[in-house]
Amino acid sequence: MKISIYGKGGIGKSTISCNISIALARRGKKILQIGCDPKHDSTFTLTGFLIPTIIDTLQLKDYHYEDVWPEDVIYQGYGGVDCVEAGGPPAGAGCGGYVVGETVKLLKELNAFFEYDVILFDVLGDVVCGGFAAPLNYSDYCLIVTDNGFDALFAANRITASVREKSRTHPLRLAGLIGNRTQKRDLIDKYVEACPMPVLEVLPLIEDIRVSRVKGKTLFELSEQEKQLNYVCDFYLNIVDQLLSNPEGVVPKELADKQLFQLLSDF
Ligand code: ADP
Ligand code: MG
Repeated sequence: MKISIYGKGGIGKSTISCNISIALARRGKKILQIGCDPKHDSTFTLTGFLIPTIIDTLQLKDYHYEDVWPEDVIYQGYGGVDCVEAGGPPAGAGCGGYVVGETVKLLKELNAFFEYDVILFDVLGDVVCGGFAAPLNYSDYCLIVTDNGFDALFAANRITASVREKSRTHPLRLAGLIGNRTQKRDLIDKYVEACPMPVLEVLPLIEDIRVSRVKGKTLFELSEQEKQLNYVCDFYLNIVDQLLSNPEGVVPKELADKQLFQLLSDF
């Protein structure tokens, strides 16, 4: 199964990706997480350091694919989760889609692309141009992370439009939304009423999650010592159990911008 996680910058995609990768591994699955954000810190809390990106490695080897070994680009992280960072195109030039294409091409050359039960793409979703939508070409499911605010829901609606578009030519479904860093969910509920899709989980703002990034560890690793964090891990396990039950998902129909502005305004 291949899953792409999208959402606005800073919303919590990488935190959720790392923790659900471990949750999937706990359920006995062989997992590869691919960071597709130019920020290239997707897998940081799994490995504890910034691993070399595919693009940096390819540049170093002058794009001689045959000179790249799996251990140059695939790093094992906490919980047995394998990690890859695609890296970004040169700032202000190039294309994120090209980077993802090269990453998949290399993983296929290394016979690694079909070796996993689940591959999780962690993708920036502020701009969903053709390039940033590229991981959807390889995915069975898309998951969107949002909070209860306008900007994240606006980005979610753009991602929804990309899923609708891609699903015409690919067997892609939207598994649903994950609410994050939010106590209230009134706008999320309004949105899914107008644009029907499942809400898999809503996580509140949790100080221990913020601190986990600073400590460079996932909640699962921290919970080994701090048992009171088990309840946070349960949020991630719940998401994974829903994904592993092969959800039907939806082919969504996004809202027009005007409709979205109206829906999320009080006046
Ligand atoms: P993204 O990958 O979407 O850019 P990150 O996963 O890097 O976002 O999260 C950004 C910051 O928000 C990190 O410091 C992370 O620890 C924090 N964070 C994520 N989810 C939560 C949450 N539910 N409660 C508190 N802080 C969170
Ligand atoms: Mg990230």
